[in-house]
Amino acid sequence: MNRLYPHRKIPIGISSCLLGEQVRYDGGHRHNSLITTQLSGIFEFRPLCPEVAIGLGVPRQPIQLVHTAQGIRVRGVHKPELDVTRKLQAYGQQVATRYTDICGYIFKAHSPSCGTRGVATWTEQGNGDGTNGIGAYAAALISAIPGLPTIDEAALQDPAQRQHFITEVTGWYQKNHAGKPG
Ligand code: SF4
Repeated sequence: MNRLYPHRKIPIGISSCLLGEQVRYDGGHRHNSLITTQLSGIFEFRPLCPEVAIGLGVPRQPIQLVHTAQGIRVRGVHKPELDVTRKLQAYGQQVATRYTDICGYIFKAHSPSCGTRGVATWTEQGNGDGTNGIGAYAAALISAIPGLPTIDEAALQDPAQRQHFITEVTGWYQKNHAGKPG
């Protein structure tokens, strides 16, 4: 429960596969029971899947981050001519403009769209060349809402990081939305 404002839950964005929605490239999901049990009493989730939103469909070609002469691009694993970088970035900016009530975001870890850290990157020849990437959608959204509290489901398993995220989200809510009709 939201202790400061017990009559309402705090809205946050979330990668929809974490809620059990079957939106992954292979038609699966990544349901996270900690989120749907412990955190569902505090937060009102705004589930979003950027890859579905930009029209890739389910199932779809898997995508990955690729180092190119033009910088890091999001391309099809088996179809390099498929480049969805700009579409994912544009959708991140669009969500930031449309969902002005969100006070935080739980992202799916390691995704080339939703990952906020440690996403695998590849060379154009298909060799792994690092794990310091960030998902194109997440990067655009975070840059469009400076300071928005974010976390991924891997960090959320740690009690200290989870509590820190809840505190930050509550602080954002107090600062930007408390007292407004909702
Ligand atoms: S990680 Fe993001 S893009 Fe991938 S299935 Fe989950 S919500 Fe969709």
